[in-house]
Amino acid sequence: MSSVQETAYDPQNIFARILRGEIPAHTVYEDDHTLAFMDVMPQGEGHTLVIPKAPARGLLDAEPASLAAVAATVQRVARAVKAAFAADGLTVFQYNEPAGGQTVFHLHVHIVPRFDGVPLKRHEGGMADPEVLKDHAARIRAALGAN
Ligand code: AMP
Repeated sequence: MSSVQETAYDPQNIFARILRGEIPAHTVYEDDHTLAFMDVMPQGEGHTLVIPKAPARGLLDAEPASLAAVAATVQRVARAVKAAFAADGLTVFQYNEPAGGQTVFHLHVHIVPRFDGVPLKRHEGGMADPEVLKDHAARIRAALGAN
């Protein structure tokens, strides 16, 4: 762990459990270093998360190579998400520590499609219908395949 951050990584966090296959996720993309899947409490249609496979609590303790892999996947998935939902724009964000709004302590980047005049929904506002998430994941995977 880097000296810039003092709180330890908890391997029982929910995203670590998704990475180990202990709990399911609606996956849209995976490579050797990153995983992208649907946020279960979307702040907008198509809200997707990108995480590194290497353990990191947040931005400050991640290895630069892992961050670079996440950035590349964020761009790749963001392009597909924008195409899949015919979005006018995208909001991309990342929180660090409770004071920064973080609730799951494995580094993750949010990608939310945006539409002119449509506000972002509340953070963790409610669980989405799993069938809807399944359909949205399939749309994004199809757009990734078309890229
Ligand atoms: P934050 O740590 O504040 O950036 O937010 C964590 C995000 O993870 C929230 O948007 C949650 O809706 C989302 N989330 C929590 N549990 C799961 C899960 N099991 N699968 C997918 N997304 C999740």
